[in-house]
Amino acid sequence: MFHFSSASLAALAKCHPHLQAIAQAAIRKVDFKVLDSSRGRDAQERAFNGGFSKVRFGDSAHNYLPAIAFDLFPAPYDWDNKQAFIKLSKVILALPEELGLVGLDDKPLKLRWGGDWDMNGDIRDGWDMPHFELYPWRKWSKKSKLYED
Ligand SMILES: [Zn+2]
Repeated sequence: MFHFSSASLAALAKCHPHLQAIAQAAIRKVDFKVLDSSRGRDAQERAFNGGFSKVRFGDSAHNYLPAIAFDLFPAPYDWDNKQAFIKLSKVILALPEELGLVGLDDKPLKLRWGGDWDMNGDIRDGWDMPHFELYPWRKWSKKSKLYED
């Protein structure tokens, strides 16, 4: 069993309760940090200009509060360690069902991973391995507020 840093806990506190429950269950199995949850306008524009995000403010699942996406960084904290990201994704993606979480329209909750955007099991389209979001995020965003900072 591992523990979150205070920075991870602060990021997690801004997340949707489903994401908080998933992270708290996952940290019992695998070690990781929560890097980012809600990004305000300035932070989103910085991420866009720096090439870390492909969209402007309002068009990212990170721009809402509670956050409907989080970015996770698995131990041993090496950006090139693809296997660590894949291992973490297997833990995270299994948790909605394990925890019995209910999503929109009373259907089982689904997550979308930035390592497999089209959710077909093929990770060649996955350019954002730290990223997980409630699916479909634009529907979830209607229950959150834009995070203006
Ligand atoms: Zn993200």
